[in-house]
Amino acid sequence: MNFKRWTIARHTVQLLMIALLASPLAGLAIFRGNLAAAELLGLPLADPLAFLQATLGGLVFVVSYLLSTLAVVAFYFLLGGRTFCGWVCPVGLITELADKLRKKLGTGATVLPLNLNRWSLLLVLAVVTITGIPLFEVVSPIGIINRAVVFGSLLPLLLVAAILLTELLVARRVWCRSLCPLGGFYSLLAGASPLRIGFIAERCTHCNDCLKVCPVEEVLQPSLELNQPQVAAGDCTRCMACLDACPSKALTISVGYHSRSKDTTDPHKGGR
Ligand code: SF4
Ligand code: SF4
Repeated sequence: MNFKRWTIARHTVQLLMIALLASPLAGLAIFRGNLAAAELLGLPLADPLAFLQATLGGLVFVVSYLLSTLAVVAFYFLLGGRTFCGWVCPVGLITELADKLRKKLGTGATVLPLNLNRWSLLLVLAVVTITGIPLFEVVSPIGIINRAVVFGSLLPLLLVAAILLTELLVARRVWCRSLCPLGGFYSLLAGASPLRIGFIAERCTHCNDCLKVCPVEEVLQPSLELNQPQVAAGDCTRCMACLDACPSKALTISVGYHSRSKDTTDPHKGGR
């Protein structure tokens, strides 16, 4: 059995993030705020989408948050962009658990197109520009869960429950895959990030174990079918589940930009 070191590391980080968000409840002063805008050990941190909404909506523009937003953007750019979705966002952990349950139930296998999240990003930015309403902060499961933990506001959790029910019964991982505008923002960053998943075609036996665990399996297809040396798509969350799943070590961490394999006439060339 494969030792799932990346999955263990990722779940540890996700649980630590939840503990950090809940730490004010225990009277600890290390973290104040939420994943949209916060202070960690006194340092201001801002989610880039929250900052964009606040600025476009004319709500607030704080220079210290501009600098921290740029620092957050640079951090996630270097670490793969949607690393936020795969490793940090507590909603990702909840929807991952829901997906495991969905598989057991054998329900909700529909998938929506991945690029919808770019349209939802555009919608959120248009709404705040025109009306001044920061739509994402109102409906975001991240904010709802955070407010429930810190302030005990339980009613909005019904929206989170509705998303989870949809994911269980109708469409697989619909929020993280296709609807979340923050995921859309980070997918733009991820498409340009130098930290990617690499593919070594010579090692691949085409067992498809990686596809079974990938939350956005469409991004792996070009490598498996056309021997592309990197998973370049911005929707890859850098969750590393494929690295844990691959019995042949055909998937790796790859830094830099490697061009497409020249020989794509035989998609399985070099696969054994
Ligand atoms: S390609 Fe690998 S790292 Fe990227 S989302 Fe799929 S399983 Fe995760
Ligand atoms: S990359 Fe690994 S897990 Fe995926 S099909 Fe090839 S051998 Fe199987």
